[in-house]
Amino acid sequence: MDHSRQSLPCIAIHSLTGCAGELLVILENLDKILPFVQVVSFPFAQSKNEMRPVDIALVEGSVSQPHDLEKLRAIRSSARWLVAVGNCAVWGCVQKSACRIWSPEQMVAAIYGEGSPIEALPSQPLDSHVRVDVKLSGCPINATQLLSVMASLLKDHLPYITHKCVCLECKLKENCCVLIEKNLPCLGPITAAGCGALCPSFGAACYGCWGPCEAPQMEAMATILSEKGYQTKEILGRLAAFGIPDELLSQASSAWAKV
Ligand code: SF4
Ligand code: SF4
Repeated sequence: MDHSRQSLPCIAIHSLTGCAGELLVILENLDKILPFVQVVSFPFAQSKNEMRPVDIALVEGSVSQPHDLEKLRAIRSSARWLVAVGNCAVWGCVQKSACRIWSPEQMVAAIYGEGSPIEALPSQPLDSHVRVDVKLSGCPINATQLLSVMASLLKDHLPYITHKCVCLECKLKENCCVLIEKNLPCLGPITAAGCGALCPSFGAACYGCWGPCEAPQMEAMATILSEKGYQTKEILGRLAAFGIPDELLSQASSAWAKV
């Protein structure tokens, strides 16, 4: 064993209910983090894992089953910094959105059959249950943002994560605006930056996968999309899909009702 590594900060990488997309991004970038940490738990990628106190716990997925909640509480009590990683962990994503339409019991019965012993909870992001120190959204997360968060935490301070909108990154890249030039239903004005304006950079509309930006201007968004002929149902469905909080969804709904 390399004893010099034993003094490095300990990290753990855990997954609750999600698609594991964040774990793949972490795995792909682990070589850049590994010189500075000891990975004491990463069940997705290694077979020897320990549940012990760590400096940083990265957690992806939403709380959607009783064992998710039990695991999350154990992680919280053993971690100095808890980082919610990805849209599921930060906002609840598509599973939270589905819970607005069906109950967990209805979904379990539809997927696993009536009488299934599987227990499910209404899907929620991590901060519905425990204190979260850092929220790193994305679907999946952006590798540069991940490395920046890790660099800050390893220097013992909380990272700065922008909550400005995607339009800011789009303008910095000097992209053509697909909302104005192509009349596409781009949600960039109300979506948090972080992806580098990925979709508009390829000529496609942002559909809001990063979750809402700070103080989203729902009325302005509803007005411009309505002027371009988009219907309330379609746009609210897009907003709801990535787990936008209920209060923002009702703000959007009221904004549409006025236009
Ligand atoms: S393309 Fe979308 S994200 Fe880019 S500036 Fe236009 S509205 Fe904003
Ligand atoms: S542009 Fe919008 S939908 Fe596309 S990756 Fe960025 S936040 Fe997600």
